[in-house]
Formats: sequence, C-alpha cells, structure tokens
Amino acid sequence: MNQKITVNVIGGGLAGVEASHQLSKQGIKVKLYEMRPINSSPAHKTGFLAELVCSNSFKSSNILSASGLLKEEMRLLDSIIIKAAYASRVESGESLSVDRLLFSKEIERIISKDENIEVIREEICSFDKDTPTIIAVGPLPSTKLSNFLKDFLGRDSLHFFDAVAPIITKESIDFNIAYYKSRYDKGAPDFINLPMNKEEYLNFYNELVSSESVVLEDFEKNVFEGCMPIEVLAKRGVKALLFGPLKPVGLEKENEKRSYAVAQLRIDDINRSTYNLIGFQTNLTFKEQKRVFSLIPGLKNISIVRYGVMHKNTYLESPIYLNNCYQMKDYKNIYVAGQISGVEGYLESASSGLIAGNYMAKQILGTQFVPLSTNTIIGSLANYISTKQKTFNPMNANFSIISQVEMKDKRLKKEFYVKRSLKEINEYLGNKND
Ligand SMILES: Cc1cc2nc3c(=O)[nH]c(=O)nc-3n(C[C@H](O)[C@H](O)[C@H](O)COP(=O)(O)OP(=O)(O)OC[C@H]3O[C@@H](n4cnc5c(N)ncnc54)[C@H](O)[C@@H]3O)c2cc1C
Repeated sequence: MNQKITVNVIGGGLAGVEASHQLSKQGIKVKLYEMRPINSSPAHKTGFLAELVCSNSFKSSNILSASGLLKEEMRLLDSIIIKAAYASRVESGESLSVDRLLFSKEIERIISKDENIEVIREEICSFDKDTPTIIAVGPLPSTKLSNFLKDFLGRDSLHFFDAVAPIITKESIDFNIAYYKSRYDKGAPDFINLPMNKEEYLNFYNELVSSESVVLEDFEKNVFEGCMPIEVLAKRGVKALLFGPLKPVGLEKENEKRSYAVAQLRIDDINRSTYNLIGFQTNLTFKEQKRVFSLIPGLKNISIVRYGVMHKNTYLESPIYLNNCYQMKDYKNIYVAGQISGVEGYLESASSGLIAGNYMAKQILGTQFVPLSTNTIIGSLANYISTKQKTFNPMNANFSIISQVEMKDKRLKKEFYVKRSLKEINEYLGNKND
C-alpha cells in the first residue's frame, strides 16, 4: 500500500471530477488539472468544472430504462455527478434534468471542500507513462495534448469525429416484410433487407428531405467532408439514394422481381440483437430520426438504441489500447476515461470516470477486486470499449450491450436485468444483505 502516491487527473469535466472524487474517497491525493478558463474548447462557455456543453438532461430516471439503471448503479457507487444532479434538479417529468449553472457550482463546492483534491487551472500538454494518471480530456481535448497522444500511441490511435448511423433492436423489425440476404449472395446471408416499392420510397424520400436537422456549431461544419449524411445526399436528387444506401441491385428475393429500393441492416453486436442501418449516418434530430426512419417498410415500430450523430468527437481506438478497467494495456499507470475512451453521453462519461478512479485507487492500495461484469450497465460499457469490433464507434447505455437472457415478456426481462445488476453492485460494495 502506498498512500504517498498522488494521481494526476487531466480534465475537470464529468469524467475527471468523478474519477477524482472516487480516488479521494479511498484516501488518494489528486491533482486535478483543468485548462479552463485559461484555455477553452470550442464547446465550453464557462470556467466551471463539469460544464454541460449542450443539453441539460441526464435522460430518464426510470429504473427500467438503461439510463435509469445506470443512474442507480452510479448512485450506489456514490457518484458526485448524480449527487450534484439531484441537488440542482429542475422539473422535467421522468427525466433527470438540471439547472446547469447550479449543477456545476455544486460540483465546485464539493470538490473545493475536498482536502485530497487540488484543482490546478493549467493545460497539460504531455504526461509521463510511469506517473499514475487519468486522462479525461473529453471529446474536444486541447490540440497539444491530442498531438502528444498521437505521438505516444501512433497516428491512427485517435478518431476525430463521430458519423454514426442509427442502431436499432432486431426485436423492433417486422419480419413479415424483412428478409435475410447478402448482396449478390456473396458470403453468408447475414444482412437484413427492407424492400420498398416506388410509392413507399417516395413517401420516405419526401419526409427525409423536409425533416429537421441538428444545428451545427461552426467548429463542427467540416466533419462532413468525408462522410455525407443521408439527408444531404438525398437532397442531391430524388434518385441519389437509389445509387447509394438504398441500392436494390443484388438484393432480389428468390423468385421475385427487384424492389424499387432496399434498405440494409448490418449486425452490430455479438448477440445479434442490434443492427445498424447501413449508410444512414445522419444529422437529423433524434425525434425526426424516429419519425422518418419508421416510414421504412418493416420499421414501423423502430426502437433506436443509439441515434445517428455527426459531430466533432475525439476518441481512442480503445479496444486496442484499453482493458475493461479503462486502464492502458501497455501502461498500467495510465487510465483513460470519459468520452475520449469511446463511451457516449454525459452519464456514460461520468460512469467511466467513476470506475477508472475506483479501480486505480484499488490498484494503488493493493486491494484485490473483480471488475464489474456485463451484468451491470457500467461493466457493459467498460466491456464494450475494450472489445475488438469491426468498426469501433462510441456507445451509450442500452440494454443490448449487457449479458442477455431469453424472456418473452419485455418488462419482466428488464426487471430481471435491474435486479441482477443491483445485486452485483451491492456485492462489489460488500453490502451482504441486498
Ligand atoms: C458539442 C457537443 C455536444 C454534446 N452534447 C451532449 C448532450 O447534449 N448530452 C450528452 O449526454 N452528451 C453530449 N455530448 C457528449 C459528451 O457526453 C460530453 O462531451 C461530456 O461532457 C463528456 O464528458 P467528459 O468528461 O469526457 O469530457 P468534458 O466534460 O468535455 O471534460 C473534459 C475536460 O477536459 C478539459 N481539457 C481538455 N484538454 C485539456 C488539457 N490538455 N489540459 C487540461 N484540461 C483539458 C476540458 O476543458 C474539459 O473541461 C456532447 C459532446 C459535444 C462535443
């Protein structure tokens, strides 16, 4: 045990403050480096710790939702973000939304009272692989640190924007319409196809081109150069999609003539419970994605587990570099947490900081522990970012990444997941009676 060790946490955002809080709770001294207000990212507006850069919502607090369960797991693990969120809560039905200034001020209040944490307002441009460090610089790290990371890990270690197509549950696809087939029958018939006739296509097309998009910040506008959103491609002409993501050739059903258009879905997880809409990277608002994509035949009851997004987002090719403790495989004193580790969202970022801090404290103190498993949302996110995938895209909390059970009744299944997760969290905490 070495309690003389001080951990450097780089970045005082959601993940950084959560990691610092967890380290401090276990008696570890922390130097928390935050570059704001001296330098700022293009998205942050204040100098406060844990600034919410966009929405003021932490999503649903219904425990039967993945986001609600994540909140409860974090609350049990004594999350500072959850504590401050409840202290600054504003009314918003079932979701947990906050007054953003009150929220950040509450975080500042708790951290400033913490004798183990020293907040240093300074940009960190490099780090030393042997000094215990948690890198929590978020999706918009300073250029100098981002360049250092590229030199340290290799040129292809970092991605710089997110251009993700929606991911939907297989359960929500109507297989009276959908069928399996690979284009030109090349390889196994692993793809799900959704055929459209001309009228169905035009109905979808007209809604797509008149739908509402997310307004981009100036710094995000150049992300589209290499990867065009489906709605922008569609505006090039009524037939543009028929030569792109809705190309029907080679997807004919046996003994049937070619459909006018076909949307294709690709397996997205090893359980084959979620699929992504190929070529549907989009900048539509979440509400519009649900409305417009449900017009595709077979997707009337679409359930989107991860909406399409296009925004600047720096993140590590984590499956190569990190294990399921957010620890670097090759540098055991370096952990990476928050959005830059490949999780997506405020809470998810905070949850990764929470366990990175928790596990690093245990490492320093020499305490044996078993990392949280995929029975929990927290453990599932950690498993996701450390598991090799064909294309690694950031992930938010959802029930398809946790260990699956077969149950027909959806509510009972969710109740089972909740019970199983909370049991494991309580065991991790040593609470024997729960
Ligand atoms: C434009 C934008 C909008 C988003 N909107 C939402 C949303 O509405 N809802 C949602 O759930 N998620 C959203 N996200 C995704 C994500 O949840 C947030 O970015 C979240 O803040 C990530 O938490 P974090 O701790 O990883 O990073 P951050 O909260 O960004 O914290 C990183 C901190 O590191 C500091 N820093 C960076 N480089 C250095 C350095 N070299 N030295 C010292 N300090 C440094 C930064 O100033 C910052 O304070 C958005 C992301 C972006 C980019």
